[in-house]
Formats: sequence, C-alpha cells, structure tokens
Amino acid sequence: METPKTLQQTIQFFSDYENCRKFMVFVRWHDEIVRCPRCQSEKVTYLEKARLYRCYGDHPKQKFSLKVGTVFEDSPIPLEKWLPAVWLIVNCKNGISSYEIHRALGVTQKSAWFMLHRIRKAMQDGTLGAKLGGNGAPVEVDETFIGGKARFMHKAKRKRLVREGGMQGGHGKAVVMGLLERGGRVKATVIPHRRQNIGGKMVREIVQPGAEVHTDEFVGYYNLKDDYVHKVINHLEGYVKENVHTNGIENFWSLLKRGIGGTYVAVEPFHLFRYVDEQAFRFNNRATRDNPLTDADRFHLALSQIAGKRLTFAEVTGKVGETAF
Ligand SMILES: [Zn+2]
Repeated sequence: METPKTLQQTIQFFSDYENCRKFMVFVRWHDEIVRCPRCQSEKVTYLEKARLYRCYGDHPKQKFSLKVGTVFEDSPIPLEKWLPAVWLIVNCKNGISSYEIHRALGVTQKSAWFMLHRIRKAMQDGTLGAKLGGNGAPVEVDETFIGGKARFMHKAKRKRLVREGGMQGGHGKAVVMGLLERGGRVKATVIPHRRQNIGGKMVREIVQPGAEVHTDEFVGYYNLKDDYVHKVINHLEGYVKENVHTNGIENFWSLLKRGIGGTYVAVEPFHLFRYVDEQAFRFNNRATRDNPLTDADRFHLALSQIAGKRLTFAEVTGKVGETAF
C-alpha cells in the first residue's frame, strides 16, 4: 500500500476518509481482512454511509468501527484527525503540546490533550524484548529528578500524588531511572524513590549478566560486581576516564527535560511515565547510520502498537535481516 512519507502528504492523504479506512485495515490485519472484534468472524460487510462494519455472528453490538480494539476506541474524534496526530507526536523531536495539536488539527485543546495521552499509551514500550548489553556495549545507568513544584500544590492533591507513587523523590521531585546501552536503546521508568535496592534490582531485570555497567558512586549499586563488570565514575577525575561515563543517558535526560520544560508546560507527576515512554519511543526509534529509520517507519511502528498488534522492525519496514536498533 502506498503510504505518506512526509507531514504534508500525511495531512493530505488522511483528509480522505477512504484512505484512513484502507490504512487502518492495512495496519491492523496483515492479510487486510477485517475481522469482528467480538467473534473474530471474517463474515462482515462494510456500511459505507455509516463508516461501520456489520458482523453476521450471533451476538449483540454487531456493528463496529475500525477504532474498536485500538486506543482510538470510544472517541468521537475522526480518524482524519487521529492519524495525522500520531504522525506529529512520533516525529516531533522534542514532543508536541496539546496547544500545537489543537492549532494544527482544529480540535479543541481538551480533545488534543486527550489524544496526546491516548497516543502516548500506545507508545509505551512493549517491544524491547532483548536485555541491554547483550551485544558487548557498556550500559550506562543513572537517575534524574524531574519537577519539584509539589510544595505549591494543595495538600490533598499532594497526598494523592504520593499515594499514586509519582511524587516521592527528593524535595518533592519525581525520580526517573534510566539505562542506556551505548549507541543503542534506552529504558527509562519513573521509580517511587531513590532507595538502595531499586537501582540494582532494575539493572538485573534489564541488563544482560556479564555486561559492563557504568554508574555513579551511589551505594544502591554496590553489589552489582557479583553479576556485572561494574565501573564507577569518579567525578573528581573527570567523566571520560577509560571511557567510563554516563554521557549517553545524560543526553537522554536533556532531551526529556527539554520536552517537559519547553513543550509540556505543566507535567502532572502521575502522567510523568507517559512522557518518559514517549521520549524513549522516539529515542529508540531514532535514525542512525546502521538503522536509517524514517518518519514513515516511526509512524508505522507507533500505529502497529496503537492497533494492539505489535510488529517487529523487519515486519514494519521490510528490512529483513536488520536488527531494530
Ligand atoms: Zn462478530
């Protein structure tokens, strides 16, 4: 199927509903045969005027739209707006605000905010199967603090944030922990607080045993040497001694903070993990020399997650034999 390659083509292409329909069928079903979301029957007919499909199975809710079973479900926003919104979000390097979506697509800012969150949900990383560091590259581990305006919040709201686990870092800030395979992928997650056991536990979950791990002197990492080649950065002697540093993950933090500070004027701490996931999606699907991902590839990858159907890099791009990262 011929699909758009640029933002301009995307907006033009999806302004025609028939293109939206064909594209949704294309990304949701490999064989492009529409199936009923309730009974999986292929015996369905398309009702063009209503833009719905009808299943002939013996069950209620026989009519369904192509949004059913995706993050677009139950939304009155048409596909003509959803699909360009996905393109904008996955391809804007520092993220995009609900205000910009509102202006670009002519939806209310409230709708734009809702769209952003739904799309971020789809961008949550579910495709990183392999552990980091398995290819021999060192893995950089670091934490960062984000936010810190909690002291200005109403007491009840602050209590709720703490209860939901988004606001327990030092001085009212949220803590984000990140692991980055040098030259490769990042995994980042909001953690309840910088307690001794969490950092080490995450390294064990995410990093291949035996890999080289670079961290700062934080005591939470003291026993990593049992399973890893653990190298600790000595800040006094400079970051780059023996190539032991965390410059890569710090670069990711600056992207994340630029996105949050510049674009997302006020990040509610309990939404923070979504911003982190969004930035990680873009970072992990960035174009590199070995892996020339295009804007269209990123769009297809995100759509494959939106449809609840995860594809491998090779399946999406047809670049069989290449690895995804
Ligand atoms: Zn059915």
